[in-house]
Amino acid sequence: MIAASEVKDLNARFDAASTEEILQWAWARFGVRAAIGTSFQGAGLAMMHIAARARLAFPVFTLDTNLLFPETYALKRRLEDFFGFRIEALQPDLTLDQQAEAQGPELWNRNPDLCCTLRKVMPLQAKLSELDCWVTGLRRQQSDTRASIGVLEVYVFDESEGRDIVKLNPMAGWSREAVWDYLRDHKIPYNPLQDQGYRSIGCQPCTAKSGAGEDERAGRWTGFNKVECGIHTFMAKKTNYQI
Ligand code: SF4
Repeated sequence: MIAASEVKDLNARFDAASTEEILQWAWARFGVRAAIGTSFQGAGLAMMHIAARARLAFPVFTLDTNLLFPETYALKRRLEDFFGFRIEALQPDLTLDQQAEAQGPELWNRNPDLCCTLRKVMPLQAKLSELDCWVTGLRRQQSDTRASIGVLEVYVFDESEGRDIVKLNPMAGWSREAVWDYLRDHKIPYNPLQDQGYRSIGCQPCTAKSGAGEDERAGRWTGFNKVECGIHTFMAKKTNYQI
């Protein structure tokens, strides 16, 4: 689908390109087989606006774990009105009651990795099986685990079928300040919890405020040795290509 030499050349080109130029490339290459995945953090919102303004009609999806803050559900509706398109909410197979029945109550307090697998990773896997390119709002500055992400990465999606997927991170080089300047300049709706000290917002049981000197994602899964939900780590990144 995409050769190693091309990945290298594209990343060199994208390092000097604007977010819009990177998104233009994805649209020309993949069309609606590329989709934006968002959890409504600031960078994703800015990226959705850049894409919409350039008339790049990427489908947009979010992972609805059924455990998001009421403010996040309200934001989704506000964004759909603001942008004039629907944001697909991917649902887990199990309702919260079914999960409690199968795994016991409040799994997130006992085994957050399994909870994230059931409520985030598996729905995402199903969605990615329909796509060739997953567009994210990841930024290098967000945490140590994201500090070295490339703008364009290729992951093994299904080894048995030899199927890969492109992951595109057009916001990789943006600072938090640049994102929030952009959101303010364009009056883009954002999560009001941001104004209350929540700098990275996920599921309600697993999100706390983070201090100014901490990583933006320090308020996620406090009390656990866990910094990623698994959606960005469950696939193996391709580093050695056969050309
Ligand atoms: S973030 Fe917490 S509540 Fe949400 S899926 Fe993961 S463990 Fe479950």
